[in-house]
Amino acid sequence: MSDPLVNLLNFDRQGMEAFFAELGEKPFRATQMLKWIYQFGVSDFNEMTNLSKAMREKLASMAKISVPDIIEQQESGDGTIKWLLSLENGNAIETVFIPENDRGTLCVSSQIGCALECSFCSTAQQGFNRNLSTAEIIGQVWAANQAMKVMPRNQRVISNVVLMGMGEPLLNFNNVVAAMNIMMDDNAYGLSKRRVTISTSGIVPALERLKAVSDVALAVSLHATNDELRDELVPINKKYPIKQLLNACKYYVKGEHKRKVTFEYVMLDGINDKPQHAHELAALIKDIPSKVNLIPFNPFPDSRYQCSSNHSIEKFRAILMKSGVIATTRKTRGDDIDAACGQLAGKVMDKTRRRFRREGIKVNTNNINNKSASGRIL
Ligand code: SAH
Repeated sequence: MSDPLVNLLNFDRQGMEAFFAELGEKPFRATQMLKWIYQFGVSDFNEMTNLSKAMREKLASMAKISVPDIIEQQESGDGTIKWLLSLENGNAIETVFIPENDRGTLCVSSQIGCALECSFCSTAQQGFNRNLSTAEIIGQVWAANQAMKVMPRNQRVISNVVLMGMGEPLLNFNNVVAAMNIMMDDNAYGLSKRRVTISTSGIVPALERLKAVSDVALAVSLHATNDELRDELVPINKKYPIKQLLNACKYYVKGEHKRKVTFEYVMLDGINDKPQHAHELAALIKDIPSKVNLIPFNPFPDSRYQCSSNHSIEKFRAILMKSGVIATTRKTRGDDIDAACGQLAGKVMDKTRRRFRREGIKVNTNNINNKSASGRIL
């Protein structure tokens, strides 16, 4: 039976105004509601003291404020915190907070699992279940905020959000855009557009659409300098090869003052980390306002790659810098609790039967109901 109560966390400002308009209420009600939910962390209509009792009762009869439940919290020796959040049907997703001197970054998931089969990513091994709703995406920020408020060293504040957790955010376009709108809304979390970053493996048509509706910071998982290797590492490259992807990146920053693309590049020993690759990378991106973030590969059980040596990473970075490319190396954080890039696994009730396919086992796929955007695009 479907839940008759609408979850208000599914609405960004526009959605919230439309919701109140249907109740015959003025747009300022949307502002009040956003403030209560996100700035005061209130999830009970009874606590909303600037709404009349009649209004609170009416809201409670038709709506709810429902966030994913935290079922596990782990803290790393370096202060990184990872939460496991439960969703219905036994699925669970992971969200990570990474404290640094000058900021606190929350890494949120956009899908349960991932339908892209990047060969070096642990989430890919889990298979795919479905897209997260807007409520489930922004609910991760809400839940992390609330959890950190009651923690002993509660100076931890979320100043940045990156959509770099489980899933491919651009394959869950509308829900991700609405959640990012809430992150940036002054009456909700009020983060600036430079502090909300979407990371994509390169869904070119969606990337082109993004520019029209949002102006968040963009990170692109490039990882290879030629199509042959990228086809293997990031198989969606077969559909949207490097040249198309880089053109879409150019378009995203075009006419936008100071906007830069961050190219993510995972360092895989002996695969993509040779000096020649660094030279090729610099040449590929020279016309695009950008910087490069080198990511030391984080291993996971059964991963077939090794991380490049520190020496190779430094050498790679030095070549980029010498070629005029700004390049940084991402510090590995939270690896003692499997919270580092590409290690997030959660609990995915796989609908793609990926493991069976990999192992060559035949299954009856008639009852696999995978109607999400990702199902179609692939
Ligand atoms: N699907 C999106 C966002 C999720 S992954 C994307 O592809 O961008 C966030 C980043 O971590 C991506 O750059 C991804 O390629 C990288 N990553 C995945 N697995 C990794 C691993 N095992 N070690 C290091 N980085 C990894």
